[in-house]
Amino acid sequence: MADRFFPNVMPDFVAEEPVDNTTPSEAGQESLTNLLSLPYKTLSHRLKTSALDLKQTVVRETWGLSGKRIQDYTVYTGTLGTAYLAFKAYQVTKNDNDLKLCLEIVKACDSASRESSRVTFLCGRAGVCALGAVAAKHAGDQRLLDHYLTRFKEIQLSSDLPNELLYGRVGFLWASSFMNRHIGNDTISKTRRRLVVDEIIKAGRKLAKKGKCPLMYEWHGKKYWGAAHGLAGIMHVLMDMELKPDEVEDVKGTLRYMIKNRFPSGNYPSSEGSESDRLVHWCHGAPGVALTLVKAAEVFKDREFLQAAMDAGDIVWKRGLLKRVGICHGISGNTYVFLALYRLTGKVEYLYKAKAFACFLHDRAQRLISDGRMHGGDRPYSLFEGIGGMAYLFLDMNEPSEARFPAYEL
Ligand SMILES: [Zn+2]
Repeated sequence: MADRFFPNVMPDFVAEEPVDNTTPSEAGQESLTNLLSLPYKTLSHRLKTSALDLKQTVVRETWGLSGKRIQDYTVYTGTLGTAYLAFKAYQVTKNDNDLKLCLEIVKACDSASRESSRVTFLCGRAGVCALGAVAAKHAGDQRLLDHYLTRFKEIQLSSDLPNELLYGRVGFLWASSFMNRHIGNDTISKTRRRLVVDEIIKAGRKLAKKGKCPLMYEWHGKKYWGAAHGLAGIMHVLMDMELKPDEVEDVKGTLRYMIKNRFPSGNYPSSEGSESDRLVHWCHGAPGVALTLVKAAEVFKDREFLQAAMDAGDIVWKRGLLKRVGICHGISGNTYVFLALYRLTGKVEYLYKAKAFACFLHDRAQRLISDGRMHGGDRPYSLFEGIGGMAYLFLDMNEPSEARFPAYEL
């Protein structure tokens, strides 16, 4: 088990020094401790500079060097992830070139995905159209905004679609919420969203068959619990919808069932009945569930969910310093658990923990990856597996109370 993550030997808390009296060149544990004691402004400035350098590398590797040809158009592992990163850079720096770059990449992804039947934000057409529409809105280009909205509205959901986030119904719904948040409340109408919610609730109740958990879902024959393919992701997106009172009770009941049946360690099984307490990832395990519990605490104002979210944060601190860099199953993604807990509780201890994970990456990731001691991802420049995600996190550290797990938290 221990070989999946680095033992976390970082102190549980390091207070910031009022002034920056460190030099960035010191090596080893000492340099990490020094980073952690920097005044927040100094540290976030360093992370931002590093993020913008990383972004240049990601753009060169995934866009420039490919001759602007698209192999994989998705946000998850493909070129649309680079567009999403460019959009984030634009939000932080207000540099119009980043917005232009985003729109240029989305345009190429639009052509490359025309025949695709995939419908979600992370891995399908909804991601292309939603990001295109939001970026066009920021650019003040009404004609382009209308183009992407029209394309989005043409997306058809087949009746045999799964319900999970990466390829299923909630992945489409998340794109609708993203557009409504950034463009206007009823950009994707209530009626359209309601039809999809009805399908999801119906399918969940049917598979649950009045079992102990009110809603249950399957993906490729397995009843997953995590954010990418299972209950955590589905409940997370449902909480953004206008639910009927009985649906709210089913969502709460499902979350309570998960809390009750977590491992003694505090981690969460990757699927129903699994006894393997191994994965502490966003996709499978406590981190993805923690973000859903934070949302539940925000939406339902319930102490039980707040406590469970903090408990899940504890296991991420202990076992979440993964030997992987990415958002989906790496340190970058796990850092967002502490950012979400900080946003929810305002406790500076959580901001410290987010800084600790981010500083660990800033100080060591590139070296550990080149030494082969850390996995840089099968798609090493991608948003969800590679250093694109680390760049995104470093940009989010700039304004930690506004940070949101990419393509997941609204
Ligand atoms: Zn993963």
